[in-house]
Amino acid sequence: MANYQAILEETYNAFRDIQAGEVASYIPELAKANAKHFAIALMTVDGQLFSVGDAQQAFTIQSMSKPFTYGMALEDWGRVEIFKKVAVEPVGISFNSINLDSKGRPPNPMLNAGAIALADMIKGASLPEKINRLLAMMRRYMGHDVHLDASVFTSERQTGFRNIAIANLLRSGKIIEGEIEEALDFYFQQCSLLVTCNDLAGMAAALANNGLHPKTGERVLKEENVSDVLSVMYTCGMYDSSGEWAYNVGIPAKSGVSGGIFGVVPKRMGIAVFSPPLNEQGHSERGLKVFEALSEKLCLHIFDDCTER
Ligand code: GLU
Repeated sequence: MANYQAILEETYNAFRDIQAGEVASYIPELAKANAKHFAIALMTVDGQLFSVGDAQQAFTIQSMSKPFTYGMALEDWGRVEIFKKVAVEPVGISFNSINLDSKGRPPNPMLNAGAIALADMIKGASLPEKINRLLAMMRRYMGHDVHLDASVFTSERQTGFRNIAIANLLRSGKIIEGEIEEALDFYFQQCSLLVTCNDLAGMAAALANNGLHPKTGERVLKEENVSDVLSVMYTCGMYDSSGEWAYNVGIPAKSGVSGGIFGVVPKRMGIAVFSPPLNEQGHSERGLKVFEALSEKLCLHIFDDCTER
């Protein structure tokens, strides 16, 4: 087995002094993030965790929550019903685009529009019941209690005018059938859950391990839904640079504006990077570089032949 700890440290040291990018500020509370924070974590499918840097630092999960709630919606409804409301098309548009497809559907579940539509669909008799189901699922993925960053949630709820506009558009086209406020509250809360880089590596490892968490042995997602989630992450998880990512890094991944990116290497490992300064498309600058380097060093690209390494 490769010396993962040494490879993570070497990669961390190679990129620790990079200063490019800007911390997200369109959600006022996120502007307070520390641009210096930097961590890399990796968990193998047999549950070994390796990490370097600020891997225990908590930050909000943001859009990295979307693959998990997509999995939840799939389990609630099945792929046929979900597909009626949210398509699976990579469209090369930014994360907060208001564009819908010719049938009035959000193009894919990794965009804000797709995730907000799914937030309406998650089953539960009331919003608190839906949130409790979300927390229970995230607890299984993380292997410990889950907390919400109340100030980020409030900040996003008070200033998320674009997401509010998207929700109204979806309601007018009957993609959202319930209360707009409930769908938005669910979405803003899913984005405000706190995670660490170590947590994300474990969550990714659970997806790499066919939906069984390697550390706790708990099932996080039915085996039959894992490939749906990973396919959408592979084609749409990095928004309008998903194609470039698939080409250069070659693994299913998801980024979030808090500066995290996690990637799933099926049957092998989960990897996460945290570094808040972002590029123009909303991805962590150092995160992109780390994944490109690790893909090369560890032969991660799903279409590469790794037999010689
Ligand atoms: N909560 C953020 C928003 O809705 C998520 C965006 C992201 O992480 O890409 O704008």
